[in-house]
Amino acid sequence: RYMLPVASDRRTDWPSHPFAARDSLHEHDMWAVEGLTHRYPTKVLAELLSTCPQYCGHCTRMDLVGNSTPTVDKRRLSLKPVDRQSAILDYLREHPGVRDVVVSGGDVANLPWKHLESFLDRLLDIETIRDVRLATKALMGLPQHWLQDEIVEGMGRVAKRAAGQGVNLAIHTHINHVNSVTPAVAAAAAAMLDAGVRDVRNQGVLMRGVNDTPEALLDLCFAMQGEANILPYYFYMCDMIPNAEHWRTSVAQAQDLQTAIMGYLPGYATPRIICDVPMVGKRWVHQLSEYDRELGISYWTKNYRTSIEAEDPDALTRRYPFYDPIDTLPKAGQEWWRNMKSPERVRADGDEAAARSREASERQASSSADAGA
Ligand code: SF4
Repeated sequence: RYMLPVASDRRTDWPSHPFAARDSLHEHDMWAVEGLTHRYPTKVLAELLSTCPQYCGHCTRMDLVGNSTPTVDKRRLSLKPVDRQSAILDYLREHPGVRDVVVSGGDVANLPWKHLESFLDRLLDIETIRDVRLATKALMGLPQHWLQDEIVEGMGRVAKRAAGQGVNLAIHTHINHVNSVTPAVAAAAAAMLDAGVRDVRNQGVLMRGVNDTPEALLDLCFAMQGEANILPYYFYMCDMIPNAEHWRTSVAQAQDLQTAIMGYLPGYATPRIICDVPMVGKRWVHQLSEYDRELGISYWTKNYRTSIEAEDPDALTRRYPFYDPIDTLPKAGQEWWRNMKSPERVRADGDEAAARSREASERQASSSADAGA
């Protein structure tokens, strides 16, 4: 349901949200050097390559990952891999405030092991790096890769060195459905843990028609936690990328799901459902500051600046919007969006909508206070 682009799955009324974007999280805008997104104060994302053993339809990095197609010209990594890696490592040496590096792509499984090990060795030479997370959906999609002798032995060397330096080395994988937790996946996770990796964690994506029920999420979490030793860590709401409206859920549904799955798994293995809000970053779905359910606009705030906001005086007081899929809204909300003529108009009316929803919450707060009195 989420790998094959089947036309009959797509919505015909709103295939894409008007604010959908191929790089919806502005990761490219926040490249400190090519392939290195500096989006949080102390952590970075290093995109070592732009290929993946699986190409998910909902890929948040769809603008970069995979080759161009006859209809879509994708962004390209233009530096030679060796130069890109050197630039990334130079930046990390020059910025000792960065302590946490997600080594990703694409998928690190697509990098020949000797290149990945060499990069990790040079990364571990930087004393200020304390957390390293390797992102690989292949642990689920191609577990045989992580079971090869060369890889298991190599990971053993890297994990031993990381542990000796007190660096947390973990693997983050991406499993969305219990049917994908096969014995081979469990074996691959066990091989990595035996090699000395501190943790194997899952960052799945919440998607309508795939896993958007408490039962589906809990089945998946119990299989990972109980049978494969993979920690159910996050479920991201599907990002606002083009042609994803049939998969996206509303924030309200995500909040209900988060509430519904509480109390079944050990607390440390109860996944958080996350909204990755453009220009803000990851937020738990209950952390919004306001929510207009009729228009499907939630508003979020943040407590740090991204790398491109150093000069922006309003970055920490602004409220940042996130949009529910329009087909999930009540009729009046759908009508409001249908009458919008252009994204600019939506932006302007979005501000009016924000004022409207603020008034509504103030009214609600004052009537509850009256009732209390
Ligand atoms: S595994 Fe991750 S990087 Fe690869 S296509 Fe899927 S979402 Fe994109």
